[in-house]
Amino acid sequence: MPVDDLSAHIEDILDVLSEESEKGVSKEELEKELKKFLEYGVPLTQAKQTLIKKFGSGKSIPGPVSTERKVIADLQPNEPNVHLLCRIITVNPKEITVKGENRSIFYGILGDESGTVPFTSWGAFDFEKGDVIEITNAYTREWQGNIQINLGDRVTITKTDNNKLPESAYEPKELKIAELRSGLGTVDVTARIVDVNKREVGVGGETKQVFSGIIGDETGKAQFTSWHNFDLKTDDVVRITGGYVKSWKGIPQLTFDEKAKVKKIDKSKMPKGDIATVHMPLHRLVEKGGALDVKIEGTVIEIREGSGLISRCPECNRALLNEECQIHGKVKGKPDLRVKAILDDGTGSINAILNREITEKLLGISLEEWQKKGNDVLIDELQKRVFASRLLIQGNALGDSFGTTIIAKEAEPVTIDINKEASALLEAVEALR
Ligand SMILES: [Zn+2]
Repeated sequence: MPVDDLSAHIEDILDVLSEESEKGVSKEELEKELKKFLEYGVPLTQAKQTLIKKFGSGKSIPGPVSTERKVIADLQPNEPNVHLLCRIITVNPKEITVKGENRSIFYGILGDESGTVPFTSWGAFDFEKGDVIEITNAYTREWQGNIQINLGDRVTITKTDNNKLPESAYEPKELKIAELRSGLGTVDVTARIVDVNKREVGVGGETKQVFSGIIGDETGKAQFTSWHNFDLKTDDVVRITGGYVKSWKGIPQLTFDEKAKVKKIDKSKMPKGDIATVHMPLHRLVEKGGALDVKIEGTVIEIREGSGLISRCPECNRALLNEECQIHGKVKGKPDLRVKAILDDGTGSINAILNREITEKLLGISLEEWQKKGNDVLIDELQKRVFASRLLIQGNALGDSFGTTIIAKEAEPVTIDINKEASALLEAVEALR
C-alpha cells in the first residue's frame, strides 16, 4: 500500500466529518494519523473508519452502492456484496454434516496483488488451483481475528484471463520476520534455522514427514512448517521463496512445501548473534497481538486474582477451583505457585504469568515454605515486593480477544537508578534552554 498518496482518502474522511462540522481536525493531523495506522499494517478502510470514529462521534463511511472490485487487503468483517478478482492458491473439498445431511463444501486460499484470504464455498465449485476468477456477491466473516470470504447462494463466479491480474499478484514479497502476518500472499524470507524437528503425520491414509521448528532474523523469531524434506539443519541460513503465513494468537507461522524454493546461503551473511530476542515496547506487542520469544519491560500495576498458592489437576494440569477440575471432577490436587500480573510500560499494558520457579526466585522462598506460611502472607508479600516494581520478562506472548499475555520463561527485577534518571532528565531539559 503506497503511503505517499493519501489525499483522496483524507478527503473521504473530511467529507464525512464536515457534515457534522464538529471537531476541527486539520488535514495534516489526519494524514499523520492515517500514515501511522498504515505503517502498523492496519487495512486502509479500517484505518479510515477508526479516524472517523475518533474525530466524528460514531459516524461511518457509507458502504458502496455498486460493487466495485475490492482488493483483499481492504476487506472488512461482515461485508456483504463483495467483488473480487483473484487467483485460487489452494482449494480442497471437505465433507460436512449439516442437520444430519452430508454436504460437500470447498475451502482454500484466494490471492490478489494485495494479499491472501481464506475462503469457504458452500455450493459447487468447479474451479482449480491457479485459475483466475472474478467473484461477485460474496460476503465476509471474521473468525479468530482473521477475515474469511464466504461464497454462498447469491455468489457468481466466472473464470477469466490470467493476465487480468497484475504481475505483482504472483511475486513473493521479500519480508523480515517481524513483518510476517496472515494474509500477505506468498513471501520471500531469509532467516536462520534456530531449531528444527521431524515428525510424521497421517494425511489421507498416507504417512507424511513434516519438518517444523523456529526461524529467526535480526527482527524476531517465527515458527515454520515444511511439508517437504529440504534437509534443513539447525544453524543453516536459508532463503525461502514462496511460503505462506498464518498467525496463531499473534505468532506468525511460515508454511511451505515442495513448490517453494529453498536455498541455503553463506552462514556468515547472518551471524548467529544477530538472531535477536527482540526487546519490544508494549504497544507494539499489543498491536502485533503476540510474538515468539520476546523481551519486555514494565511496571507491575496489578497483582491479579488467581495469584499465589494454587492446586492443579494431576490429569490435565488445569487450576482447580475448590479442589475440583472442570473436566475430571473432584481430584487430589498438586500444589503449585504462580503470579498473574498486569505490566505497563507507559506505551501499553499486557498480562504476564510467572510460574512457580520464577515466583520462588523472585521472592527467595520455596513453595514448601509458602505452604507453611499460608497464602495470605504470600499475597501480602507479593503486594509489598512485586506490585509497583519493574520487571524484565522474556517469553512467548500470545494474543486473543482478552488481550495479550506473556508466558514468562525468565523474569528479573529491574532496578531503576532514580538519581541517574533524574540527572539525565535534568541534562535533557538544560539542553533545551
Ligand atoms: Zn483435570
